[in-house]
Amino acid sequence: MTNRMLALPKVDLHLHLDGSVLPATIIDLAREAGERLPAEEPGQLLPYMRVEGECKSLIEYLNKFRFVGQFLHTPYSLERAAYEVVEQASAQNCLYIEVRFAPQLHRKLGLTVEDAIHYVVRGLQQGERDFGVMARCIAICLRGHSEEFNREVIRAASLYLGKGVVAVDLAGAEAAFPAELYRDIFAMARERGLPITIHAGEAAGAASVRTAVELLGANRVGHGVRMREDSAVVELIRRGRIPLELCPISNLQTKAVDCLSSYPIRDYFDKGILVTVNTDNLTVSDTTITKEYELLHAKLGFSEEEVGRIAMYGAEAAFVKGAEKKELLARFGQQLALWQ
Ligand SMILES: [Zn+2]
Repeated sequence: MTNRMLALPKVDLHLHLDGSVLPATIIDLAREAGERLPAEEPGQLLPYMRVEGECKSLIEYLNKFRFVGQFLHTPYSLERAAYEVVEQASAQNCLYIEVRFAPQLHRKLGLTVEDAIHYVVRGLQQGERDFGVMARCIAICLRGHSEEFNREVIRAASLYLGKGVVAVDLAGAEAAFPAELYRDIFAMARERGLPITIHAGEAAGAASVRTAVELLGANRVGHGVRMREDSAVVELIRRGRIPLELCPISNLQTKAVDCLSSYPIRDYFDKGILVTVNTDNLTVSDTTITKEYELLHAKLGFSEEEVGRIAMYGAEAAFVKGAEKKELLARFGQQLALWQ
């Protein structure tokens, strides 16, 4: 079965840069920076970079990013990390990825927000040329950051719109910082024509999903797992044809659901909601996009035909526009027909 889901053409729309850095890369980057690590072998470093089993909360999950984050403040580190995410995606037969990161978290050594975006985009573009995976960037604003910090992100992202950046996002501690606080920030994003995805319904309930859509104008929702707590919100998402970026393995780890049997993807899919399947974090969640689809087929009751439909929903929900979107959909459709 592994080969079957590996051969399925896939996209990954919810993929964090800092959660997907290879341990061997951290070892190189630390050496270059002259910093000591708690372990010098990739296998021994992994426990510092990934969650073991389920964690207690989203906060504990987010703490894993601190460790990796300290090494991603130079042009080389950002470019290399981005490039290697494309390489990893190519090994899983991903045709398209959107890699997201928060530029404000990578400025310890003096990079501007625009610089940080520039180097990530450069790594993605080099990866695209070398591995044939279309790779775009999403710039993340953070819950808890100041209005000015987040405005800088929107401003810089809009300069790169259509030149490597395809959207903006809001991430961070969802329960502590409700989406209402970021209304003006995302109004600015909409004015500048930036598509919007919002992390919502992961660590907070259905109301958070409603706010993301109605107040911030989310075109897609990151996770949305907990929107099932309110059937009116489920209906809002269904009627609005707003794709959900589900990340099953990560959603289980962060306890967005208690256990696999209560994971709502089957229910959402049957209702006609545009569910997409993604990884969230390759390293932190110890996953690949192939593993996520295997889980869907082996444990969540999706037939191969249904798995193919979900993969296609992903391609259709990609933020890339115009001729590039057409090209992606054509390539994707061809490969899917061959797979079926
Ligand atoms: Zn995420």
